[in-house]
Amino acid sequence: MKLFDPSLAFYKGNTHAHTTDSDGRATPEECMRQYKAAGYDFLAITDHWHVHGEGNYHGMLIVPGAEYDFPFPAQTLHLVCLFPDEKLSAVIRRDCTHREVIRLVNAAGGVAIAAHPAWSLNTTEFLCSLAGVDIAEVYNTMSDEPYNAPRGNAESLLDVAAANGKLYRLAAADDAHFYQGEQCVSYIMVQAEALTVPAILGALRQGRFYASQGPRFKNIEVSGREIFVETSPVSRITFISNAFWIDSRSAQGENLTQRRYTARRDEAYVRIQITDRDGKKAWSNPIALL
Ligand SMILES: [Zn+2]
Ligand SMILES: [Zn+2]
Repeated sequence: MKLFDPSLAFYKGNTHAHTTDSDGRATPEECMRQYKAAGYDFLAITDHWHVHGEGNYHGMLIVPGAEYDFPFPAQTLHLVCLFPDEKLSAVIRRDCTHREVIRLVNAAGGVAIAAHPAWSLNTTEFLCSLAGVDIAEVYNTMSDEPYNAPRGNAESLLDVAAANGKLYRLAAADDAHFYQGEQCVSYIMVQAEALTVPAILGALRQGRFYASQGPRFKNIEVSGREIFVETSPVSRITFISNAFWIDSRSAQGENLTQRRYTARRDEAYVRIQITDRDGKKAWSNPIALL
């Protein structure tokens, strides 16, 4: 089974950005200008508690979205929500609980993403309790150094959640505020039938995407416990799972472009992570194994 359809295009998008409509420094127009100039196909402007509607900026699709935050003792929850339209902006209010927001977003055909879970100090138990949230940011540019405390990377936190049964799909996003050049770094590649809001949201709900800062997944094929991956030239290809020690887990070299891996019986899931010579990464979604 091929996880990506060779006949469909990939679209590059950032699902998380802030502007002068909340605490960002760039105007929405300047935000769109910079992402369009960097070659993005779609962008969601997700100001805090402020929905930006659908738009088209010189061919770059604007997906409706907003970010909502909920305080808890010793942690916080930030949900980046993408919508099919702007209707929910009148329904989601500051007195809504996170469960109400998740239910409303899913009922409307939208997608709720757990933003920067490491930055948010989320516990595994909390992440495992978020029914209706299937995507989490494995990497958030703004939450990492040199912009912030080094908590942009949520790989190991989400691995613990996965080992405990919650297989989040993995997104990467900038959370751009236009403070220190954190825009246009981390993104998702979405395989959709068309560059439209319903097609992008549908692909996100079905998991037809991967997260990246540069390297590309060209093909991932799964046959039983065999996984075959083809990539752009990279320096490392690693298969990551709930198993503690696998001696063939990681391959290093110059210009690696493919690898085959046979999962052991005790591996409940496997995800693939690739790193290029500049240290830029891409992350596949976890593949559940029977
Ligand atoms: Zn946030
Ligand atoms: Zn944010």
